[in-house]
Amino acid sequence: MAQTEADKLAGTTASPPLARAERDIVALGILVAAILLFVGTGSSVLGPLVRNLAYGDTPADSALGNALILNIALIIFGWRRHAELTREVRERRNAEENARLLAETDPLTGCLNRRSVDPAIESLVAAAAASGDEIVLAMIDLDGFKRSNDLHGHQAGDAVLVETARRLRALLPDGSVLARLGGDEFVCAAALPPGHVATIDGLAAQLNEAIALPIGWHGTTLDITGSIGIARSAVDVDNSPRALSHALQHRADLAMYQAKKNGRNRYCWFDPSMEREIQFRAELERGIRDGIANGEFVPFYEKQVDLETGALTGFEMLARWQSPRFGLVSPETFIPIAEDMGVIAPLSEALIRQALADARGWDPRLTLSVNISPLQLRDPWFAQKILKLLVEANFPPSRLEIEITETCLHENIGVVRSLITSLRNQGIAISLDDFGTGYSSLAQLRSLPFDRIKIDRSFVSTLGRNKDSSTIIEAISSLGRGMDLPITAEGIESDTVLEELRKYGSFKGQGYLYGEPASSDEVKAALAAEGLLAMPAPAPRDEASAAVADPAPALAPANATRVALR
Ligand code: C2E
Ligand code: MG
Ligand code: MG
Repeated sequence: MAQTEADKLAGTTASPPLARAERDIVALGILVAAILLFVGTGSSVLGPLVRNLAYGDTPADSALGNALILNIALIIFGWRRHAELTREVRERRNAEENARLLAETDPLTGCLNRRSVDPAIESLVAAAAASGDEIVLAMIDLDGFKRSNDLHGHQAGDAVLVETARRLRALLPDGSVLARLGGDEFVCAAALPPGHVATIDGLAAQLNEAIALPIGWHGTTLDITGSIGIARSAVDVDNSPRALSHALQHRADLAMYQAKKNGRNRYCWFDPSMEREIQFRAELERGIRDGIANGEFVPFYEKQVDLETGALTGFEMLARWQSPRFGLVSPETFIPIAEDMGVIAPLSEALIRQALADARGWDPRLTLSVNISPLQLRDPWFAQKILKLLVEANFPPSRLEIEITETCLHENIGVVRSLITSLRNQGIAISLDDFGTGYSSLAQLRSLPFDRIKIDRSFVSTLGRNKDSSTIIEAISSLGRGMDLPITAEGIESDTVLEELRKYGSFKGQGYLYGEPASSDEVKAALAAEGLLAMPAPAPRDEASAAVADPAPALAPANATRVALR
């Protein structure tokens, strides 16, 4: 198998090794036979021939002379063939060696590659089993490599990889394995006497420092750091080298992700709790998949009110997962996982479909706000999908508000702008959620046609207690006035906060003061009690007179429904 791979890589078409060896032996045999023949015939022919040439004696037997000439030709032929075959074998060995190197190493850094790392670690494990050493394995992933690549180009990226490999190699003990698994991920393994935790800590810190040293590049410097995960294991006879190698790589990988989570540019030891976390995450993922199929994700609703008049203006839909296994799960837990799993779009669409059906039953003056993940905005068909849902539910676009967070603005701003524009052209309002927690610039705010900004609850709920919050809210409210953008304040929990807020302008607001998010049935019951459910469609002949006789009543202050909606 290895031979076939080597042949392929070398691009050679030579015959199989056995035939070549046979040919070599035949050529050598011919050569030896010819030499023996030469010795045999030469003595009886050369003597008379020399005497004939020197003293004019009787000429040598011409048949024997011819045989001698033939013999010499045979020797020359045999020698040349032997030399050719020897050269061919040498070239082939070199080609095979090159092919093996190409197949086993990463041509850029000279490290082992993904294909050869397993056998290398397995033989290290086997050797450690004999010597009583333990195996220490580190998984290294560069931080910010992609960003540096995008910023300085791929050649700069290559330079970073080459230099990083050189620095790692210089620090690792003799006999260590160093491989690049692809991209910016390296793995190294070493066999060390057991119990040298401090030595390994020291080495890991040195590796971190070495990676973080600036790399010179065409008059500038490339600053890269690395996150390192470490796992170690004593080798015993029950461990098959393969199983141990795989287990160590898996554990070091988990530890490396923990190092990233902990802030990057550091090393982290594997801990069994990391494995449990992964298992829990896998269970959550299975649960989410089943939950979507079984309709366990439901919309809850939080009141939005006009702080000036106290009137209810609408609801924000907040997703909840009623999991038979985990109970009522917060969106802050399952939305990021659903995003990672790539199921956020179908999940969100199912929720919006239910919310539109619920909101159809409310007073037509009440609006519905829905939250959208940044990932959904990458979908070029997103606006069409929303419109399809509106048409299916026969819900007026003017009653729908879409909330997007500031993180959406880090995505391709051009795509986001055209999406927002096409949604607004249909009459849907767009608000910027959690304002103040992200990094949206004034320029972005001006260039994107938002209808509203929502101040994050972290500023609102601390209003009156934290001076910075007051400053931030004052700044946001004057920004809103300057840009003619209405504002909603989230997280109003007390009358004190409400009073404070009123000082800064006329906002809309929401928060536990008006009630916690409630289920569809609870909202329906509360609205029914307030006479805020949609009227049943009037009979066609009464339509015109009903419109005149029964103008829409002003909405009751939300405080009145506070208790009813929890
Ligand atoms: P958000 O859009 O900023 O929603 C407001 C969050 O603040 C909600 O948390 C709400 O329950 C909570 N909240 C409201 N008033 C108060 C208050 O007075 N005090 C306190 N302490 N909290 C308050 P929830 O429901 O856990 O939602 C969290 C986040 O999850 C939402 O933040 C939103 O970004 C996201 N989310 C919710 N539903 C969806 C959804 O269907 N799709 C997407 N993509 N994200 C969603
Ligand atoms: Mg929101
Ligand atoms: Mg918010």
